[in-house]
Amino acid sequence: MKPTVHGIHHVTVISGDAQENLDFYTKTMGMRLVKKSINQDAPKVYHLFYADAEGTPGTDLTFFPFPNARPARPGVGQVIEVPFVIPVGSMGYWQERLAEHSVATGEVEIRFGQQVVTFEDPHGLRLALVETDEDRPFVAWEGSPVPVEHQLRGVHSVRLWEAVLEPTEALLTGVLGFERVGEEDGWHRYGTGGSTVGALVDIRVLPDEKRGGGGTGGVHHVAWRVQDEDEELAVRRAVEAVGLRPTPPIDRFWFKSVYFHEPGGVLFELATDGPGFARDENPEHLGEALILPPWMEAQRAQIEAGLPPLTH
Ligand code: ZN
Repeated sequence: MKPTVHGIHHVTVISGDAQENLDFYTKTMGMRLVKKSINQDAPKVYHLFYADAEGTPGTDLTFFPFPNARPARPGVGQVIEVPFVIPVGSMGYWQERLAEHSVATGEVEIRFGQQVVTFEDPHGLRLALVETDEDRPFVAWEGSPVPVEHQLRGVHSVRLWEAVLEPTEALLTGVLGFERVGEEDGWHRYGTGGSTVGALVDIRVLPDEKRGGGGTGGVHHVAWRVQDEDEELAVRRAVEAVGLRPTPPIDRFWFKSVYFHEPGGVLFELATDGPGFARDENPEHLGEALILPPWMEAQRAQIEAGLPPLTH
């Protein structure tokens, strides 16, 4: 059997101020901070993970807050929007909730037969909520200000702008196990893993658009689920075989990661489903303390002193 990915594992974004980021995703969006850690490549920067109650793969949006970075410039070779799933019947609740929190929303639109509303987070990340009742792994967060029946069910899809379609399409369908789902309003949709949520990529081709630039509000990378290290290595070999340059597997402690740029320029990651966020914290207290990978524990005092305080 050909190796394949199984949908979105997480999406990682550059944000502005860490406290503003934390307040928006926990208080407005009702997500749980499941891990408060640091950027392993830049230990003066937090790595904040928001998800369902247990950090189920596919529910997870993570941030590197760089308050002094310039804003991202939308363009080709970028993830341009991150839609989340809400249950059917929740659209009215969310429109009201976002208005109460002074978040401006667009008109409700229909995409591939589903109701969608779009808005931005405080630092310019384009988000959307998509109504669908398809079942997916999700654990409700009892501590959320959003009632369980309306809570976000996880990432629905990622929307990419690309200068050309074919090379990215060839990677998705020929290497990563996606199938073409259809085309609507100039968006090409691909799906993997037998699911229609949490496993979708939408691509819009904009041949005259400039390349995007990274910064606050910009997506840093999208990670795809692989079951375990064996599957990760198999997909990695397939990626390498078509001439792309994946990194060796990197131990992120809660999962193992491989990174590579897809042909259009978007940074992709392969991430294993396990061991998961409860590996080093009591599941009841996820996100409360600053968690460092064991090999950084020796520098804890120094690292903590370099991070801005967070209230939550
Ligand atoms: Zn990642």
